[in-house]
Amino acid sequence: MTRSSSRAAGAKGKADRTFSAWVRSIGFCERCGTGRNLQCAHIRSRRFSRWRVDPRNAVCLCAGCHHWFTDHPIEFASWVDSIDHLADNYAGIMLEDLEQWKQPADWWETRLETLDRLPARNAIRPAR
Ligand SMILES: [Zn+2]
Repeated sequence: MTRSSSRAAGAKGKADRTFSAWVRSIGFCERCGTGRNLQCAHIRSRRFSRWRVDPRNAVCLCAGCHHWFTDHPIEFASWVDSIDHLADNYAGIMLEDLEQWKQPADWWETRLETLDRLPARNAIRPAR
C-alpha cells in the first residue's frame, strides 16, 4: 500500500464515522420514532463510494427497523417512496447514477471537508 492510499483509507474511515454520527444526530428512528440503538441506513448501498457519505442517501433507523428493511428491500423501497424528501433524493441519485463517474484520487478527503459543513439534523421531524 502506498503512502497516499493509506491516507485515503484513513479519510474514508473518518468520513464514515463523521457521516454516521451526523445521520444519527437526528436522535430518533425515522421509521418508528425510538431513540434507542440508532444506526445510519443507506438507501443506495454504501458499497458505492459515490453514495457512501452523500447526505441525500441515508436515514437514521433503529437496529430493528434497519435489519427488517435489509431483509425486506421491496418494503424499504416503498417506505422511501412514501416520504417526499426521500423519494426526491432517491430519484435524483438514480438519475445521477446514469452518468459516468470515476472516483477522484482525493475523494474521501474532499468528502470530509463537505461533511464538516453539514447543517444540524435536529430540525427534522419523524417521517410517519
Ligand atoms: Zn425503528
